[in-house]
Amino acid sequence: MSLIVAKFGGTSVADYEAMARCADIVLANPSTRLVVTSASSGVTNLLVALAQTGLPESQRLALLKQIAAIQYAIVDRLPHNDEVAAAIDSLLTRIDVVSQQLQHEADKALTDELLSLGERCASILFAAVFRAKGAVAEAFDVRQVLRTDSHFGKAEPQIGQIREFSQKLLLPGLASRLLVTQGFIGADADGHTTTLGRGGSDYSAALLAEALEAEALQIWTDVAGIYTTDPRLAPNARPIAEISFNEAAEMATFGAKILHPATILPAVRQQIQVFVGSSKASEKGGTWIRHQVNNPPVYRAVALRRDQTLMNLHSLQMLHSPGFLAETFATLARHKISVDLITTSEVNVALTLDKTGSQSSGQCLLTEALLQELSQHCRVRVEDNLALVAVIGNQIASTPGICQRVFSVLAPHNVRLICQGASSHNLCILVHEAEAADVVATLHRALFEAP
Ligand code: ASP
Ligand code: MG
Repeated sequence: MSLIVAKFGGTSVADYEAMARCADIVLANPSTRLVVTSASSGVTNLLVALAQTGLPESQRLALLKQIAAIQYAIVDRLPHNDEVAAAIDSLLTRIDVVSQQLQHEADKALTDELLSLGERCASILFAAVFRAKGAVAEAFDVRQVLRTDSHFGKAEPQIGQIREFSQKLLLPGLASRLLVTQGFIGADADGHTTTLGRGGSDYSAALLAEALEAEALQIWTDVAGIYTTDPRLAPNARPIAEISFNEAAEMATFGAKILHPATILPAVRQQIQVFVGSSKASEKGGTWIRHQVNNPPVYRAVALRRDQTLMNLHSLQMLHSPGFLAETFATLARHKISVDLITTSEVNVALTLDKTGSQSSGQCLLTEALLQELSQHCRVRVEDNLALVAVIGNQIASTPGICQRVFSVLAPHNVRLICQGASSHNLCILVHEAEAADVVATLHRALFEAP
């Protein structure tokens, strides 16, 4: 049986119309047998707000009301909806009960149960929308098969068991009906509900596609695939029909707001092709991410990552003496800082800090303690308001003329740092934040729009 798994994100299942549109996409291809859904747009955020302890009762009730309104706007559109209404009512009651319990005492396991209810509501409603269109469809509780460890809030999937349970409990049912299951959630060995971390539905879908040895995984979202750059920066940005996993991973690393390739790793290691498209405009097509692609181009995309910090370390100790870099990196590691780009000279090392990969993601990474420790063996200079622009492609390090082409158009700009050569997939430059948009537009014109 050729099997396609289709995952729909929160905006794709935001309301009845959105769900109905997605159902049409699924029903147009009889190979699509398993549907994985996120919670309807906004619901997980509301549940996160409800999970706080010590919420004033009026606020708690207001949040409950908002969640119920989103669910009921869908229930009310369904024909013969008594059974579905009853199922949704019992989940809403559970939300009420669990959120009351959490008011008194924070509890990670209970919080995960609360967060899981958004996806559980969505799967019941989405299955009913399929039935309203005449399909044979049912909701399937993914917790029967998506086994994780007990790290509530960011549980680790247990690949072997997920495969075993999916083959035994999920696959047989797919022969006779469409199953709609939940992304984002799982269960540990004791049957406690867990979650995979915010945005975890793509990961769930990839894990299930892997476990079922699916032929393809479709990720339906609100953008029509991956573009050569952010269309807001370059209006002539083009959608990319096909891209390799490695290139997509580079783009995500360098800031492209695409599906994070780490989340589809399970599908890719099983060589399952992944499609990304817009459920609001499925006719526009989308992007296929494949293990290998035909004729990969030298230039694939230009990515931009803002908000970069450059640290310059200077020490005469470095002169002809081993160990300085080792010491520096050991210090950074102790402070849980992940380094991005590096360039060195005889007595200087410059590096940019990776906010996403570092532990204190989103916050300022440079603590007083770190700066003090570094100052003991070198002079530290820090520069902010920088942006990283990456030209992504193939065989960049082994194709003559690339640097000349890139730098010839950057003549008016001040390039603060360059990194090229470690990966054949990128050439990175660091520029001042204020020039970043211009640099991206200029590069896109030169590399992708030139006749
Ligand atoms: N509903 C969850 C979230 O908003 C998971 C997901 O949508 O991927 O984080
Ligand atoms: Mg989401």
